[in-house]
Amino acid sequence: MLTTTITILRGADTIGGSCIKVKHGEDSIVLDYGAPIMDSFGEAIDTHDVTHPTLENGILLDIQGQDSQPPLAYLLSHAHPDHYGLLSTLSEEAKVYLSDSSYSMMKISNLFYPESLQFHKLEACYQFTPGRAFSIGLFTVTAFLMDHSAFGACSFLIQVAGKTLFYTGDFRGHGRKSKINEFIYKHVSQPDLMLIEGTTLDGGHSQQFPTEKSVEASMAKLFSSNSNPSFVVAAGGNIDRIVSLYNATKKAGKKLVIDLYQLYLLEELKKHSPGLPPHKGDHLRVIFPSSQLSTIKKQFGEDFLRYSDRHINVHKLQGTDYVFRISTYAMQPYLNHYKEQGVSPNFVYSMWKGYQDKQPMFGEMAEAYNQPWQYMHTSGHAYLEFLQEFADRIAPKKLVPIHTLNGDKFETLFKNVEKVDNGEVIYL
Ligand SMILES: [Zn+2]
Repeated sequence: MLTTTITILRGADTIGGSCIKVKHGEDSIVLDYGAPIMDSFGEAIDTHDVTHPTLENGILLDIQGQDSQPPLAYLLSHAHPDHYGLLSTLSEEAKVYLSDSSYSMMKISNLFYPESLQFHKLEACYQFTPGRAFSIGLFTVTAFLMDHSAFGACSFLIQVAGKTLFYTGDFRGHGRKSKINEFIYKHVSQPDLMLIEGTTLDGGHSQQFPTEKSVEASMAKLFSSNSNPSFVVAAGGNIDRIVSLYNATKKAGKKLVIDLYQLYLLEELKKHSPGLPPHKGDHLRVIFPSSQLSTIKKQFGEDFLRYSDRHINVHKLQGTDYVFRISTYAMQPYLNHYKEQGVSPNFVYSMWKGYQDKQPMFGEMAEAYNQPWQYMHTSGHAYLEFLQEFADRIAPKKLVPIHTLNGDKFETLFKNVEKVDNGEVIYL
């Protein structure tokens, strides 16, 4: 009888750079092939190594190893670089699968992202629709949409020769799509093995804002509390957060200013989530940064002109009822404009705190405009309590931690834990 094995090639003891091989007989599929971020002590990895990945510098992985043939396919769980970052290095023949909504996300990101973050194989990828099973050789794969900060993020249920593996990818239970988890409980039960992420177990993820709704509420409170313009630092790709901003500004009666990248991204994702902004006659305004404009013109011609009625620049400002979610570079003329008028800004930092500490620019801005940054953020990853609830509901026969610096903590916190090392073969 053919054996089925699972090997975490990277991610058993670190966050980011996940890569898992599932093998049945001589056939294998690979889940994620991300760019590593940190080592197993949480120390940052040399960015030069990551942008020049080789087997020798330890960034690339010998995925095929002793196998007689290369993997049948690579499945991408979601559009974050620590999951897709190294897929571009694969040979032409490698087949990469991703969700239709991840595809949309990456199609727009590819146009605007710097070269190092682009996904060069995107056009050659195969797309799947979450919830609809598909086959790769003897493997049957069903993807489920997950509640994560990357739009289109999926988990994978993989069935082969009567065995079942469930890989959560990155997820949480406190975002806008938390109801999705109920759907998963109905369709995934007692898999032979579950690979579950444990990002927040490092203790570096504040629970000051326990849910995405609580972030939205505190933004709405701030925007309503004074008449000053607000400047918000948030990831444009974090669509849940952009919706929080959209709702909070609407509630406060202010206009939300975004850039062309953000607007094109939202328009593209409406294909999958028609409820997303923009909506006709709403409070969304858009700046046309020259670099984005030239990208848009090259790709879509004069299409952007249909957004002329939303267009805003420093000369078109009327009063102070604005919330800006644009790059910090693009914020400068608006900040200066208001400073000249003696108007103070509100600064909101709405991303993982770790980035803020690394960038001196934020401290410089706070000093220059004499305003502190107000922190409003919730993690894209599940907190311990929800991880435990999720594991209880799925009730896997074996639970293997991944995407965590704290795999050791799992044994006391979860049932049926099998902690493995990178490269260790697990028999299913
Ligand atoms: Zn992620």
